[in-house]
Amino acid sequence: MSEAVTKRRIVIVGAGLAGGTAAKTLREDGWRDRLTLIGEEPGVPFGRPPLSKTYLRGEEDLSGWLVKPDDWYEQHEIERINARVASIDAARRQVRLQSGGVLDYGKLLIATGGRNRRLGVPGADLEGVHQLRTVAECEAIKRAARRGSRAVVVGMGFIGSEVAASLRQLGLQVTAVLRGKASLDAVLGVEMGEVMAGIHRDAGVELIAEDDVVRFEGSRRIERATTKKGRRIECDLAIVAVGIEPSVETIEGTKVAVDNGVLVDSRCRTNVPGIFAAGDVANHLHPVFGRIRVEHYNNAEKQAAAAARSMLGSRAIYRYIHTFWSDQFEHKLEYVGHVRKWDRFVYRGSLGERKFVGFYLHAGRLEAAEAGRLIAKGARPGWRALADEEQDLGLL
Ligand SMILES: Cc1cc2nc3c(=O)[nH]c(=O)nc-3n(C[C@H](O)[C@H](O)[C@H](O)COP(=O)(O)OP(=O)(O)OC[C@H]3O[C@@H](n4cnc5c(N)ncnc54)[C@H](O)[C@@H]3O)c2cc1C
Repeated sequence: MSEAVTKRRIVIVGAGLAGGTAAKTLREDGWRDRLTLIGEEPGVPFGRPPLSKTYLRGEEDLSGWLVKPDDWYEQHEIERINARVASIDAARRQVRLQSGGVLDYGKLLIATGGRNRRLGVPGADLEGVHQLRTVAECEAIKRAARRGSRAVVVGMGFIGSEVAASLRQLGLQVTAVLRGKASLDAVLGVEMGEVMAGIHRDAGVELIAEDDVVRFEGSRRIERATTKKGRRIECDLAIVAVGIEPSVETIEGTKVAVDNGVLVDSRCRTNVPGIFAAGDVANHLHPVFGRIRVEHYNNAEKQAAAAARSMLGSRAIYRYIHTFWSDQFEHKLEYVGHVRKWDRFVYRGSLGERKFVGFYLHAGRLEAAEAGRLIAKGARPGWRALADEEQDLGLL
């Protein structure tokens, strides 16, 4: 490693799962020099999954979800700054804080994640209209979620589906409004989406599909949501879960290329020397899936570790076969791979019993399923063999 690099500081912008994991990996992999982690959210880096599940339902605290406990950062001489980064001057290699301070860096990691999309409709700022990403937002929903009260969930992607399930489990009346034909159909397809929607319906969630909330109303706080098709849903609270957008504003004004997130190569490097990115904000070049931006826990953790190693000089390509999970009611969904378009969906098991393994094929190539090894090698196993339960996946 060159002297110039060892002598200068690494700065990480964003102290979520990706930022925290990068700091941990840098120390574990031998970075002894200055290391600064800047984040505007209070507290230590942690994983958000329980915020829509166990933590929201009051079944678990966050101690098992911390990247590292509070005192670990001090013990490992990681300088933590609770502040917002306002801008980056890539030519001077400086980070400017909103509060006015300026920090020099040798290498910089952008790990600013994403922020919730707002629903630009009248009444969206009424008291009782919530969104969910931070602990504070989760606490606000918990305070509002009294047994028997009426909740409207807008959007049935992963967060909307999980929140709808948790609120139902807490004894609320839940109505969900979704644009698609079925929950999660944009990601999983209508067949799988119908399975997920059936799980919610059976548990008593009312689903209003192919519709959209166009207005929230209430004199002081939310009292009802009105949909495009004219449904008026009386409610006590609403949770808007219509996806996230990558937080890229810190690099505006630099030459770092942005297109649906910060563009990085297969070693997490941006086009500007010394600047790297990882996690929800990074649109990366993957050797199997091409250019993708992934909004899941496992990627944030693994890509951050890969970025840290890349910052330390590793030439390894980030080739993780993406995976994620979602828990809704007693059901667990696990997904391996990444597919935007597919022409065939086959499964083993029973959709009716909700116990099955599904495979997504595009032009004969397996792109998403539970068979990571097959996806990694770009296998074309044939859909009949995949659907045939007698056929050993290990032999395909
Ligand atoms: C409720 C919920 C449940 C989830 N459940 C699952 C799940 O079950 N399975 C799964 O795979 N994934 C799940 N996810 C997704 C997963 O949490 C994300 O993929 C992960 O949080 C991404 O981590 P990140 O560090 O890249 O970004 P983030 O978590 O968004 O962290 C980025 C951090 O950077 C900070 N920041 C941004 N801009 C600045 C700035 N200018 N200055 C300083 N700080 C800044 C932000 O405040 C934030 O703290 C869930 C997400 C949510 C919200």
